[in-house]
Amino acid sequence: KAKEAGKNNCQFYTKGMNATAVNYLLLENDLRRAIEQNQLALYYQPQIDLKTGDMTGVEALVRWQHPERGLVSPAHFIPLAEETGLIVPIGEWVLREACKQKKIWLDTGKNVGKVAVNLSPRQFRQKNFPGKVEAILQETGLEAKYLELEITESCAMEHAGETINQLNQLNQMGTFLAIDDFGTGYSSLAYLQRFPIQKLKIDRSFIHDIHDDANDAAIAKTIIGLAHNMQLRVVAEGVETESQAEWLRAKGCDQVQGFLYAKPMTAKQLESHFHNGRFCFDGTVISLESRL
Ligand code: C2E
Ligand code: MG
Ligand code: MG
Ligand code: MG
Repeated sequence: KAKEAGKNNCQFYTKGMNATAVNYLLLENDLRRAIEQNQLALYYQPQIDLKTGDMTGVEALVRWQHPERGLVSPAHFIPLAEETGLIVPIGEWVLREACKQKKIWLDTGKNVGKVAVNLSPRQFRQKNFPGKVEAILQETGLEAKYLELEITESCAMEHAGETINQLNQLNQMGTFLAIDDFGTGYSSLAYLQRFPIQKLKIDRSFIHDIHDDANDAAIAKTIIGLAHNMQLRVVAEGVETESQAEWLRAKGCDQVQGFLYAKPMTAKQLESHFHNGRFCFDGTVISLESRL
């Protein structure tokens, strides 16, 4: 219901319209102003190499500090942004901000590895999207090799022909490409092998019950094998316990990302983990997600 209302901007308020739908429209209005009012922020979550324990990169995750509602989850406002088209300016803001921050870390000698940015379908499908990425890289002075772009498996497969075209252009520019939430969509392996990508990210829904659900374990194992057979890196999302990390290490998973190591945090909070020339995350739960 709320989704339908969000799509149809001409719809006027009626008694029949439920509170959720009204709420959605109010939120849309606020979201339109969120960028100019400086309410968006990026948090960064480390990705850790399972063999060496080194931080190989960070994923940028957007947060919206709403003046009355407090922190609004991207799981809530990204779909709204996608429906209304607001994802285009928001996505550009995210990309620019992440590149700027990565450039600062480079210039100050802090090796955070690559910075990964999530793309939503409407943003990725823009005809001139590769050109926009190139312009932002130029503007911020960041080399493409430090930027990793994530699209979800379902986005990648939906118009696979177009996807190949977009990915080829981005690949030629030198950015890294990852397929996010892998295992939740309907992949065509024929297409997958034609995508010029470097990484698969196992969706966290498979990691959660890896010890209790034989199907989840089988899927995770299969994705690791598939990735390696295709010469791709594989990252597990949502690693929360030491035993999940152990299991993944035993199965040869390359990298992990999850609350076990670190929650998404501000750039400043991340920098507080920089000691003696490297970032340290010791695999114990640290809780750094604070209010802006
Ligand atoms: P995602 O790209 O799959 O990001 C991973 C999500 O898993 C993040 O949620 C992260 O906080 C969460 N996570 C990481 N480790 C753990 C863990 O150990 N346990 C649990 N339970 N969760 C963990 P977040 O930040 O709420 O983002 C949700 C989704 O919103 C993202 O999923 C992504 O699809 C979307 N998103 C976030 N930022 C952006 C953005 O800048 N642009 C676009 N287009 N989408 C974004
Ligand atoms: Mg992601
Ligand atoms: Mg994901
Ligand atoms: Mg997701």
